[in-house]
Amino acid sequence: MLDNFIAPYESTATQRLKDAGFVTLGKTNLDEFAMGSSTETSYYGATRNPWNTDAVPGGSSGGSAVAVAAGMAPAALGTDTGGSIRQPAAFCGITGLKPTYGRVSRWGMVAFGSSLDQGGPMTQTAEDAAMIMNTIAGFDPRDSTSMDQPTVDYTATLDQPLNGLKIGLPKEYFGEALDDGIRQAIMEAVKQFESLGATVKEISLPRTELSIPAYYIIAPAEASTNLSRFDGVKFGYRCDNPTDLMDMYTRTRSEGFGAEVKRRIMVGTYALSAGYYDAYYRKAQQLRRLIKQDFQAALADVDVIMGPATPSTAWNIGEKTQDPVAMYMEDIYTLSVNLAGLPGMSIPCGFKDGMPVGLQVIGNYFDEARLLNIGHQFQRATDWHSRKPNV
Ligand code: GLN
Repeated sequence: MLDNFIAPYESTATQRLKDAGFVTLGKTNLDEFAMGSSTETSYYGATRNPWNTDAVPGGSSGGSAVAVAAGMAPAALGTDTGGSIRQPAAFCGITGLKPTYGRVSRWGMVAFGSSLDQGGPMTQTAEDAAMIMNTIAGFDPRDSTSMDQPTVDYTATLDQPLNGLKIGLPKEYFGEALDDGIRQAIMEAVKQFESLGATVKEISLPRTELSIPAYYIIAPAEASTNLSRFDGVKFGYRCDNPTDLMDMYTRTRSEGFGAEVKRRIMVGTYALSAGYYDAYYRKAQQLRRLIKQDFQAALADVDVIMGPATPSTAWNIGEKTQDPVAMYMEDIYTLSVNLAGLPGMSIPCGFKDGMPVGLQVIGNYFDEARLLNIGHQFQRATDWHSRKPNV
């Protein structure tokens, strides 16, 4: 739909990087309209994982993750609607931070699920992510959901010791869905945090499983309205020789969108339609509120929540493309963080059969500095983040 489209203006996040002297090396591949968990739905074809080129890099920001993991760039940006910074960061062995909703301006980002979307850094280290955050975070009057709250210097607290840090481990994140090798790597990482002075306790996020149906109603619903602007009139692709207006709309959208995008538009339109709105969209929004409350209750008791970023390591290209629901299930540990609007980070914490494992750290609203401090302290004590694939 947007092949050959050149944006007439710069996004706030990239403009701020340019103003600070960063150099843009290029655009990276991603799932079409950021819909996917593997970068296989890209119009330009799949991206490969540098740790095993038969495997997916995760998605949707797979190209950004690979650029950093393979050493092509020291840092990249991604957007995260349901995990698209954290999951590819985990699959490729890099650091990825999804900030609090509203912390980084969405101006100039293509809207997918506007109430969920958030841009953030994908880097080799938490320290690098802190430097990028210092540049991209902050209020932007051009994004009506941008938070008018002062930012902090994200590098200032990196060296703080973790003595007394209270970590919660949600028991629902360690259930049957979780691969044993990942469980082991996560528990090793937790031990490392204990030796750095943290205390650990089990907590519960009882509606974790319900984040999948809630998200896969809300995100497609928002996407179906956001994508209505791609109609062949204003910008992007237009079909050849339309016979009339309806023919132009229909063929432009049928020819311009890929299969996964069409699936989301159909699900979203259905969920928002008069007869089904109450049964699906309203229900999903009610669930979203409960999921947010679960997090708030948990975070009243602990400083941060830790668990796996993904239930398995990177799968092989083609393995899950025939079964969209199997692909959606892989987002189980990341979606709820977007539904609640909280910040979440994935940092490398080990390997399973040669493939990277990501530890997810979830914080309270606007606690990015604490997440980066935790990431930095872990990366000073371990060397998982400095291991490189053979490329
Ligand atoms: N995998 C999720 C989806 O397909 C999340 C994508 C994202 O965060 N952009 O919707």
